[in-house]
Amino acid sequence: MKYAEFISRVQQEAGGADVDFIRRVINASLGIEKPMSAHYSEDDLWVILEALGGARREGRAPARPEYRFVTAPALEGWWFRSSSYVIRDDLWIEPAPGAELEEYPLKKEALTELVADLEELGRQYQPGGVGADGEPPPLGPRERDKLLAFYVKHGPLGLKFRGVFGYGVVIKEDGQVVEDQRVHVRTTPFGRHGEPKKDLLGHFGLYLKGKCYVSKPPETGHYIPCRGPDGRKRYLSLHLLYAGYREDCDSVLFAAWTFSCLAQQLASGVVPGFLLSLEEALANSRPAVGLEARQPARLSVRWEPTSLLDAAYLRLFSLGVGGMRICEDPKCGRLFTPQGKRRYCSDRCSERHRKERNRKRQPAI
Ligand SMILES: [Zn+2]
Repeated sequence: MKYAEFISRVQQEAGGADVDFIRRVINASLGIEKPMSAHYSEDDLWVILEALGGARREGRAPARPEYRFVTAPALEGWWFRSSSYVIRDDLWIEPAPGAELEEYPLKKEALTELVADLEELGRQYQPGGVGADGEPPPLGPRERDKLLAFYVKHGPLGLKFRGVFGYGVVIKEDGQVVEDQRVHVRTTPFGRHGEPKKDLLGHFGLYLKGKCYVSKPPETGHYIPCRGPDGRKRYLSLHLLYAGYREDCDSVLFAAWTFSCLAQQLASGVVPGFLLSLEEALANSRPAVGLEARQPARLSVRWEPTSLLDAAYLRLFSLGVGGMRICEDPKCGRLFTPQGKRRYCSDRCSERHRKERNRKRQPAI
């Protein structure tokens, strides 16, 4: 249906909500990518009604709605990491049993380190290696250690979260039987045609161990309330979602390698292909526009990444614009943000390279 018709349908279903408010909910929930000329589906209607209902149930004033119900956790500006990780079956990297989940500070400083660490993690990876059985070759002890150290410091890359662009709750009904509480996952940015739709467990597949719903509000951690057609409430526990989330080592190393290649290109000033790759990398993030109601009104625009990997790409981009350099010590080659005319990432590298050059200049005796 068309935009105007869509709005009146929402109004009808929601019982006469303010048009301006509905417009804002549409913008926030379906993304500003979806133009007014786009086609609006029954699913879209559902997402908006859920967002409106959520805002009401929480007793929030319609003037300043929050869109928790259709927003992926990472969009709210936080990310989780576990206090320790294990590698299972030489394949999965996951939170260690009994480990604590903690919030990862998605702040500038942490992200700058993330860019350097991710670049380093991917640099030595050789993609396309094949082991004896045709599978990727087993991880070496060095790779294992590096991966674990990276995870303890930064947490998972969010490879699966990356595709989630926000979700609401869908109840699947099979005749009279309520099958289960399902969460509707959008796996591509809003507004694109032919987007596949899956429930949460379907989307995460083997990346998610066990259930992430509970029947009572969890005592710790954030959650998203959901409601069944029978009126019964369930809760999507974000804690369980993150605690049960794991990633496969090979995909992580591959993602790190891709990131590393791009970072090196950027630092050495090779631009062709960079913008394209960046566009792809940023497709999962979305700009959030805010207008502060004060005099004079202030407009703020920021990008909201849906995963740690996207956050790293965003940070790489902003660092790249500021000019990153590769350490000139051939034994190092680390990326760094130069202050002034620095050519080395550290004094150590500068000193080492100087000695090396001096040694080469000395005539052999
Ligand atoms: Zn260096």
